[in-house]
Amino acid sequence: MQEHLFQHTDSDDKRRARQRIEELRALIRKYDYAYYVQAQPLISDRDYDRLFAELVELEQRYPDLVTPDSPTQRVGGQPLEEFAHVQHRTPMLSLANTYTRQEVLDFDRRIRQALGHETYQYCCELKFDGVAVSLRYEEGRFVLGATRGDGLVGDDITANLRTIRSLPLVAQPVTVENVILSNFEVRGEVYMLRRDFEQLNRQRIAEGEKPFANPRNLTAGTLKLLDPRQVAQRPLQLVCYYLDSDQVRLHRQSSNLELLRAMGFPISPHWRLCATLNDVFAFIDQWETRRRELPFDIDGIVVKLDDLEQQRRLGTVARSPRWAIAYKYEAEQARTLLKDIVLQVGRTGVVTPVAELEPVFLAGSTVSRATLHNAAFIEQLDVRIGDTVYVEKGGEVIPKIVGVDLDARPADSTPWRMPTRCPCPHRSRLHRPPGEVNYYCESPACPWQIRRRIEHFASRDAMDIEGLGEKVVAELVEAGFLETIADIYDLASKRDQLVGRPGWGTKRVENLLAAIEASKAQPFHRVLYALGIRHIGEVTAKLLAEHFGSLDAICRATMDELQAIPEIGPRIADSICTFCNDPEERHIITRLKKAGLAFSAQRQSKQSHQPLAGKTFVFTGELDSMTRTQAEELVESLGGRATSSVSRATSYVVVGRSPGSKFTKAQQLGVPILSEREFFELLRTHGVTI
Ligand SMILES: [Zn+2]
Repeated sequence: MQEHLFQHTDSDDKRRARQRIEELRALIRKYDYAYYVQAQPLISDRDYDRLFAELVELEQRYPDLVTPDSPTQRVGGQPLEEFAHVQHRTPMLSLANTYTRQEVLDFDRRIRQALGHETYQYCCELKFDGVAVSLRYEEGRFVLGATRGDGLVGDDITANLRTIRSLPLVAQPVTVENVILSNFEVRGEVYMLRRDFEQLNRQRIAEGEKPFANPRNLTAGTLKLLDPRQVAQRPLQLVCYYLDSDQVRLHRQSSNLELLRAMGFPISPHWRLCATLNDVFAFIDQWETRRRELPFDIDGIVVKLDDLEQQRRLGTVARSPRWAIAYKYEAEQARTLLKDIVLQVGRTGVVTPVAELEPVFLAGSTVSRATLHNAAFIEQLDVRIGDTVYVEKGGEVIPKIVGVDLDARPADSTPWRMPTRCPCPHRSRLHRPPGEVNYYCESPACPWQIRRRIEHFASRDAMDIEGLGEKVVAELVEAGFLETIADIYDLASKRDQLVGRPGWGTKRVENLLAAIEASKAQPFHRVLYALGIRHIGEVTAKLLAEHFGSLDAICRATMDELQAIPEIGPRIADSICTFCNDPEERHIITRLKKAGLAFSAQRQSKQSHQPLAGKTFVFTGELDSMTRTQAEELVESLGGRATSSVSRATSYVVVGRSPGSKFTKAQQLGVPILSEREFFELLRTHGVTI
């Protein structure tokens, strides 16, 4: 009625403007829906921008025609002082979480008992790892948005939610039982795509700010911002899964999802109606693997009773509905207390800060330590003792800390400082070479370094001395048997002293000495790697061995000659020179030479038989009978080449357990693929027996 009044007083110009404004808003809504919800743009960006500019201009000319539901009003308003509180009309319940199939079975049994002989179905949906919100619509228009808060009272974040482009400011009218739904509540989850999260984090780090631990934290942090203009700059996403209205009786969760879609709300296409528990488990299993294909994080599956009348009858217990359950996938990130930061000394003297954590279960095992990389990393994240931190496993063996929950930081915490001295008994001064992030213990006599260095020397990929593991090394260093790696080869002369030690019988000593003796046959490149020269890994050691043929030649080479090898930069060349010129190291080398270790590559001296000459092999996955390195050496000893990447020139790809992308690549390129067994058969046809 008011509209008529206005129209009578409007000038012709204004009437035309009003009409055009309505047209433009309808068009923009339609295009926004196509773009942000369906991801299927209907017009070009340029045409869209033109329409939008026209609307802005008209609204500027007639400010009284601006309404809060106009697409131009998504971003606006002044920063708030604080959020107002909102009482939820229906409490926002939190779902009971389960981690086992048994709990899902128990849940189903309780439902069956409660419903007697009635039939029932489950609606299974993805559980988005985001922030739950409630959206209230009146007369079809978005009027109020709130966080869950404590479930009864949340924060009014309407202005922030308006900035989310997939959130309809005006819902499409739909009719249910002859009633147009206009007053209703929708609930959903605000989340962020992983790639947007990563990009924002990179930007923050570049600007010297602390990165967020995960997309959910970033989303929550964004929704808490008091300035909607800042929120508008963060690409938030919305997914809706709940609809309630006093106007009509709604019947099923699955039909509500369809209604939401028809009303223009973003819903996830991945939901399924399940008539049996087997279907539920199939859905759970399918998404356990497929979740990595999604561009956002989900942390489980929500199983809801589909019939809303049955839901009502089951009701709630302790703020959780009895009619729904969340099956959570194994977390890839965990939150725990950081009890202490200790220093670990590596074989090259590098000192690494390590986090001691309150043990927490993460992706299949209990984690109590995590790497903190170096002092710069700690400073960047501002990790402090007493903090609650996020830990991830992310493919590596050693878990890492990815973020700090600043809300949980104790008031009296202080920034962590890198100690100036090594934790070893020598307490020697720590030193950071220019241009490096790492600190090093300067003392060559640092017993921790000695231990690490001997462990490395004896390790499987280096000299491969069985029986000389971490514990034995620690014991023999402590007892004064080992001070340098060269002392290993003097152990044979101390046989009697060894046999007398507690826990050391004759047999054990003989086994160890035999393993040490056998290690003398290791090829030059392994010896070179075993020496533990700073920055020289397995690959570089091989390159150097191939290129120079002996340690003497390597040490004679100038910095330029070393750097003539493409993979060798100034850092490695410098490290080699330092090593070769160190009198201490030279003394060790002399002793190792005397012991009979290979310091030059006797190229194919023993193996004149070269059945694999001209053939290139790539190994992927774990082999049962040997390590990948051993298999590669076997191929090389038979005249073949082992490389790490697959190309058309590759002769064979040998595939072990859990192969990586090389397997797929081989299939794509049509390179012959061998199983471990077929690989050995191939060798057998060439007269090689293993
Ligand atoms: Zn030290």
